[in-house]
Amino acid sequence: MRVADRWFDHETVDDGVIRIVEPHVDPFLRGNMYLVRGRERDLLVDTGLGIASLREQLDELFERPAVAVATHRHFDHTGGLHEFDEVAVHRDDAESVANAEGFASLRIEDYPPEELGGYDVGQSLLTALPHEGFEVGDYRVHPAAATRVLDEGDVFDLGDRRFTVLHLPGHTPGEIGLWEEQTGTLFSGDCVYESGVLLDEMPESNIEDYVASMRRLLDLPVRIVHGGHDDSFGRERLHELIDQYVAKRAL
Ligand SMILES: [Zn+2]
Repeated sequence: MRVADRWFDHETVDDGVIRIVEPHVDPFLRGNMYLVRGRERDLLVDTGLGIASLREQLDELFERPAVAVATHRHFDHTGGLHEFDEVAVHRDDAESVANAEGFASLRIEDYPPEELGGYDVGQSLLTALPHEGFEVGDYRVHPAAATRVLDEGDVFDLGDRRFTVLHLPGHTPGEIGLWEEQTGTLFSGDCVYESGVLLDEMPESNIEDYVASMRRLLDLPVRIVHGGHDDSFGRERLHELIDQYVAKRAL
């Protein structure tokens, strides 16, 4: 397999919001990271798989202090946390992240077939390697201890922007969203993203909590949602996704 020229791509998706992705990772596993530029400090929402170094490869983006937040415990969001001095994770996912617990693999044969749909075993989840000699089978996630343990209502103050923590359990117990009232901006993690293929049957998931979290989002005067996967979307699509989910799961 060829070695990638650059591991990360980034583009501005809204005022002061840069989306960072790992284009050589199969869409099945490819998550979004978002860097929010603040007057005094930056906020990094999720950190990808940790296959390559964010700090080294995107040094022009990370020359200012940034606090790295994980929307939840899963390895496609927490891989780069260990590279940052300030790390924030919700109380109910912090221990799992600190101990690098839970499933983490780049090998397609490690995934339950029912999760994979059309994929063939033996096919790779990477379309390029981050560097010469990289071994897919050696991939591990670094443990990352939170320097700040988050609860509902906590605030990230970037100087000119303020994001409030919304506890949105369901996908995982410590799933969070980040809400900026002033601009109607929601970072929704894996609670809701554009494709609507939402995962609520993992051992750490809870469908009843998930339904309640989704219903809660109906009340937010959202302008734009930046999800943990897929493209960003607006309020109308958010309400469609919530209605679909609630119709499928609420009893
Ligand atoms: Zn997840």
